[in-house]
Amino acid sequence: MENTGTIYLVGAGPGDPDLLTLRAARLLENAELVVHDGLVSREILAMAPTSAEFISVAKQRARHTLPQDDINALLIREAKKGRDVIRLKGGDPLVFGRGGEEAEDARAAGVPVEIVPGISAANGAAAAAQIALTHRDASSIVSFVAGQCKGLSDQDWSGLAGKGRTLVIYMGVKTAPQIAEKLMEDGLAPDVPVAIIENAARPEMRVVRGLLAGLPDLVTSLQIKSPALIVIGDVTARQTGLDDRTLAALTIEETQ
Ligand code: SAH
Repeated sequence: MENTGTIYLVGAGPGDPDLLTLRAARLLENAELVVHDGLVSREILAMAPTSAEFISVAKQRARHTLPQDDINALLIREAKKGRDVIRLKGGDPLVFGRGGEEAEDARAAGVPVEIVPGISAANGAAAAAQIALTHRDASSIVSFVAGQCKGLSDQDWSGLAGKGRTLVIYMGVKTAPQIAEKLMEDGLAPDVPVAIIENAARPEMRVVRGLLAGLPDLVTSLQIKSPALIVIGDVTARQTGLDDRTLAALTIEETQ
């Protein structure tokens, strides 16, 4: 199998090309074939040579998309033709990115895999909104959870949010009402501060803040759209320290 290409599972970060690793940028600049998700920004795709072939396997709830098994098979098929495959994913490939599944199938098929980490949305959003995920005065634990519908009520989040803890929820926009209810049922106070960071590290970023009980209203009244992260905990209520110019560029909506 000396002619087999390598599958590179590459993290593209939250959107700003400056947040790519050098490794990701170098691989992209020499790419022959780029297989990417919908979350990868146009500016980042534009870093690949115009001669490269691009295949979008965008996953969006409403649109018909390639099932994961077909994506895995596509990556393997292309690598077996002897091409290196740049599998570009939003954020980090191993955080809610199904990178683990793609790597397992590739290894099982005898195709070499390299994983290039990316800045996950939680890190990118925290930096852009200047919200510390941990802070010695407010939080010493941070958890990442997925807020998708499937199995949400079966997931045990007890103990993940509350005093001294930060909970970061990916994919939680659609299920914000169930999320707020679930957390309050678990004993979280309705007045725990929350923040939503929409389009983090992109020009159209919005940061909104409020309280847990008001989370569903915040999402609907401000028409928050994916991609957005919900952060729950006292760290979101601290001064962000953003200067006036940066603040003017964002829409900070204080509720309460
Ligand atoms: N592998 C990715 C996560 C993919 S799941 C990562 O490590 O970031 C998709 C979810 O990530 C979105 O629904 C949203 O919750 C979050 N997300 C990705 N990019 C984002 C961005 N620029 N701003 C806010 N949230 C983002």
